Amino acid sequence: MNLNTNRSGRYAVGIDLGGTNIRVALSNLEGRILHEVRRPTPSLEPGRATVARIVNAIDEALEREKITRDEVVGIGMGIPGIMDPDLGLIYWSPNFPEWSEQGEPVGKDLSEETGLATFIINDARCAALGELHYGAGRGARYMVMITVGTGIGGAIVMDGKLMLGPQGSIGEIGHHTIDPHGPRCGCGNFGCMEALCNIRSIVERCVAKIQAGRPSQIREQVGGDWEKITPALIDEAADDGDALAREVMEETGMWIGIGVSNMINILNPEVFVIGGGVSQAGDTLFDPIRRTVAARAVKLQASHCRIVPAELGDEAGMRGAVALVMERLREQSA
Ligand SMILES: [Zn+2]
Repeated sequence: MNLNTNRSGRYAVGIDLGGTNIRVALSNLEGRILHEVRRPTPSLEPGRATVARIVNAIDEALEREKITRDEVVGIGMGIPGIMDPDLGLIYWSPNFPEWSEQGEPVGKDLSEETGLATFIINDARCAALGELHYGAGRGARYMVMITVGTGIGGAIVMDGKLMLGPQGSIGEIGHHTIDPHGPRCGCGNFGCMEALCNIRSIVERCVAKIQAGRPSQIREQVGGDWEKITPALIDEAADDGDALAREVMEETGMWIGIGVSNMINILNPEVFVIGGGVSQAGDTLFDPIRRTVAARAVKLQASHCRIVPAELGDEAGMRGAVALVMERLREQSA
């Protein structure tokens, strides 16, 4: 497993191993993406098949830009789940349910197949690196980020450095309790931030209100098919003035705001970045979040923390993976 960057390289490869697509970016050392290649994620295939797809996509990007492998500093890869970055092993990933619990050697194999240094990192931590270097966290030394999606990922940057810790596991903000009487979380606990603020819980909150007989334009829009309800649809209805949808966004903002308040009190960040599709909701969501923080967090900490949406959208993973390579290059050149 090669973890030594190629210091004479002038390019980096950043990979976002997502649930739908594998996205491979070839970037220059300034973090600008020169070329991107996408492949469908082979979620039911063994790790070897995934590695083969990735290598093929890297080669396509290199060929396209007329760059050779020995001009590449290294590879960074973000993936949801639990892993050992030093050994290049992935123990569990929701995107790859069939992978071995003994650890699928995806990072290790990728490094061996390409001959390049390969760094793997949890997807939420990866997105945070992207925002820190190229997005909403630019210039910050103290930053906290959550990514609200199917789960809630988290990341903590202290003194300009992303905190990783054993197995890259620092920052599981989604699994701190914000309501001890709340719903069961995927992790086994009750009332985790994730269990109250992820996409499913937002939709369930909406469905429960509609089923209780409350009027809403959403009822007509989905024709009784609750599966069609998405946070984006709820946000749209809220913008149209739909009272039920507004209430759902307000409650979601309150729960997120409680979690954000806790993190602000403990970590005192200059900037708190909220990413994931839900963060697109804008003021409908951010107003109740900011109001909750103003009411609950310690005044001194809250007054100098900006709460902002992520800026890189669905490129955060790829660009964070590139930033990871750049960070390792700087460390190893120092
Ligand atoms: Zn949990």
